[in-house]
Amino acid sequence: MTETIIITDPDTDRYHTFGYISWWQQEVVRQATILVVGAGALGNEVIKNLALMGIGNLLIADFDTIEDSNLSRSVLFRTTDRGRRKAEVAAAAVKELNPDVNVKAWHGDINYEMGLGVFRHVDAVIGCLDNREARLSLNRFSWATGRPWVDGAIQELMGIVRVFWPGQGACYECTLTDQDYQLISLRYSCPLLARENILQGKVPTTPTSASIVAAFQTQEALKLIHGLEVQPGKALMINGLTNDVYTTEYPVKEECLSHSRLEPIEELPGATATGATLCDLLNLARERLGPESVLEFDSEMVVAMRCPECGRETPVFKRMARLYESEFACPACGGRREMRLTHRLTGDEEYLDLSLADFDVPPLAIIRARNGRERLYLELTGDKEIFLRFK
Ligand SMILES: [Zn+2]
Ligand SMILES: [Zn+2]
Repeated sequence: MTETIIITDPDTDRYHTFGYISWWQQEVVRQATILVVGAGALGNEVIKNLALMGIGNLLIADFDTIEDSNLSRSVLFRTTDRGRRKAEVAAAAVKELNPDVNVKAWHGDINYEMGLGVFRHVDAVIGCLDNREARLSLNRFSWATGRPWVDGAIQELMGIVRVFWPGQGACYECTLTDQDYQLISLRYSCPLLARENILQGKVPTTPTSASIVAAFQTQEALKLIHGLEVQPGKALMINGLTNDVYTTEYPVKEECLSHSRLEPIEELPGATATGATLCDLLNLARERLGPESVLEFDSEMVVAMRCPECGRETPVFKRMARLYESEFACPACGGRREMRLTHRLTGDEEYLDLSLADFDVPPLAIIRARNGRERLYLELTGDKEIFLRFK
C-alpha cells in the first residue's frame, strides 16, 4: 500500500511541516474533539500543544481562577488575568494562538458538575490534574462511557504519563495503593472540608516538568485519535534529576471498583436538562422498562433542609457533595439544619414537575432507569448541540 503525502505551500499552510510526517493526517486532527480537564501547569502546556497542532474542537474544563503564583508555569496566562477563570482565559489564548481551533471553556467541578454524556461525545480525554480525587472521578467516568484518557502527574522534576483505556490493562484505580486510599478517605471523611482543601491543592513543580509531561500526554492523545498503538495500563516514568526514563506495567485488580460500564445507554435526542421534567424522564423509563421502574442517581440528592430547632423546612434540590458548610445554618433561627436525602425517584415525590436542571442534573447527564434487575441508562442527548457548541 502506498501512502499519499500531500505537500502544501509553506507560505499559506500553517500545518505544512506536519505533512511530511508519514502517519499524520491533518484532517483527522481537524475533526477530533478533545476534553482537557485542568488548566493549570500541565493543562496550559497540553492546550498550547493541541492548539499549535490544529486540533478541531477543544473543551477546556477547570473550576479555578488565576493567581500570580500560576504565572511561573502557565504560558497562556498574563499578569492582567489575575482573578479570571482559568478555563476562559486559556480558551481565549487558544484562539489567539490558532484561530482554526474551535474551543469551549467550561468552569465547574469535574467531580460533580459535568454530565457523563460529555465523555461519550469526545474522542479522548486528557487529565491535567493535581489530586487523586479528580483522577479517580475521571477514571470512573472514562470507564462508565468507554473512553480512553491520558493522565499526567508532576512533582518537582519527576513526571508520570499514563494512558488508561477501559477494558485494556489496568485503570487508574487499579494503581492505587492502600496508602493512596487512606489519603483519599482522610479527605472524604469530612467531605465538606475536603472539597475546600482540594480546591487549594498545591504541587511543587517547574515549567520544565510541566512541558515534558504535557508533551508526552499530547502525543499520546494524538496517537489515540490517529488510531496508532498506545500502551494502556503502563506508566512512563520520567526522573528529571537522574534522567532515568522507563516504563512499568500495572497489574489489573479484578475487584477494582472502577470497572463498571453504563450499559445499555439510550440516547434521547429530544431531552435536555432544562426542557425535561423528572416526570417526563420517569415516564420514558416506564415506557421502556415497565410501570414499576424508578430513576436512580449515583450521588445523594438533598431535597430539603430541615431545622430541628424551629421546624422550618426548605426545599433545596442539590447534590449533597455540592452543598457548602454555610448552607447548614437555618436562615430563620440560626440552628443547624438537617438534610432530607434521596437517590431515587419512585413517582410518589411531590416535586416531579421540576426540570432535571432544577433537580441539579447537569446537561448531557446519563441517568439510570431500573426495574428490578433490568437497567437502562438514559442520556440527555438533546443538550449536545448547545453544550458541545464550539466557537
Ligand atoms: Zn481498575
Ligand atoms: Zn431554625
